[in-house]
Amino acid sequence: MNTPRILADHDLQPLNTLAVPARAARYAQVGDEASLREALSFARAEGMPVLVLGGGSNVVLPARFEGLAIQVTIKGVEIVAEDGEFVYVRAGAGEVWQDLVEFTLQRNLQGLENLSLIPGTVGAAPIQNIGAYGVELDTVFESLTAIDRQSLETLAFDAPACEFSYRDSIFKHRLRDAVVITAVTFRLRKKGELNTSYAPLHEALSAIPANELTPRQVSDAVIAIRRSKLPDPAEIPNAGSFFKNPIVSADKHESLKRDYPQLVSFPAGAGRVKLAAGWLLEQAGWRGHRQDGVGMHAAQALVLVNPGRREGEYVLEYAARIQRDVYERFGVMLEREPVAYVPQGETA
Ligand SMILES: Cc1cc2nc3c(=O)[nH]c(=O)nc-3n(C[C@H](O)[C@H](O)[C@H](O)COP(=O)(O)OP(=O)(O)OC[C@H]3O[C@@H](n4cnc5c(N)ncnc54)[C@H](O)[C@@H]3O)c2cc1C
Repeated sequence: MNTPRILADHDLQPLNTLAVPARAARYAQVGDEASLREALSFARAEGMPVLVLGGGSNVVLPARFEGLAIQVTIKGVEIVAEDGEFVYVRAGAGEVWQDLVEFTLQRNLQGLENLSLIPGTVGAAPIQNIGAYGVELDTVFESLTAIDRQSLETLAFDAPACEFSYRDSIFKHRLRDAVVITAVTFRLRKKGELNTSYAPLHEALSAIPANELTPRQVSDAVIAIRRSKLPDPAEIPNAGSFFKNPIVSADKHESLKRDYPQLVSFPAGAGRVKLAAGWLLEQAGWRGHRQDGVGMHAAQALVLVNPGRREGEYVLEYAARIQRDVYERFGVMLEREPVAYVPQGETA
């Protein structure tokens, strides 16, 4: 069946982990490429804007979207090739990310273990080059296929074409809202050293000799750390880290370090330094702050929480206040991590 059901006036609040109240004039779920093309053609014929959704765990939605919201549910995970060193696994864009991680762990493949338990879908993972505990998606990315939202052509992207960088890719810039990703292929190692460079992970696994460590053990440790630190969106609505760690020049870092000797930072390549946004927020007093149903999580200053289920518009206003405050104190502009579809939020 390739004709998607187009529903009217659909409730998107249960479909975004920040739980902002949101409705779409039209909504369709697409489970295969033919349905996706049909839905895109429908929107084009009606002159409607399109909003693509996976698991809704990295978006700020508007109260009302006057267009077609397309939720991608294309499934399927398979091994497509293998050589001496690597196994290549392709997954449909609508696969739940953690289900893919589990598929690879069951086969003792290496590469996704540090990215365990990140919410959302496979198709959204390249959008911001998801990362956690010392690993980013681009280290295991092989290629993806996508459909051009205008021409409906099938496109293929290798890693350089995706222009990956820290929580970023071409799909957040030049190709923002231009393509729909349908499948992603990963290059996973059969063996080799696992990445336990992130200090709490290293500590949690220190009792196991490095040559005996398995991807499953790393995954279990990552999951335990994540559960202890991050609020479950089912209990406290949130979208994970709301701001990226800002990258500044070495000079700027030096001058901040003079004023704040405790500043937490990491090298970020030639003459650049990454600052811990959570540290800046904590210093500025935002950790645990609450106002009118929105706030910053008490156990993790970087996570904006929305227990009051306030509208996306208000969430972005609150975030903008934080951005102004941090800028005034430290001269550093925090960049938002989730993709905002609320018009007034487009400035940050
Ligand atoms: C508790 C929590 C913890 C998190 N931890 C992390 C973390 O450790 N690291 C990290 O990187 N992120 C993290 N995130 C953010 C989020 O999980 C990831 O960004 C995830 O990849 C988003 O997937 P999604 O399917 O929910 O995307 P959505 O929120 O549905 O969409 C995000 C963006 O991708 C676009 N998009 C979605 N699917 C497609 C597609 N098939 N084709 C084209 N565009 C598409 C959307 O249009 C939107 O612009 C966390 C979020 C939460 C709630």
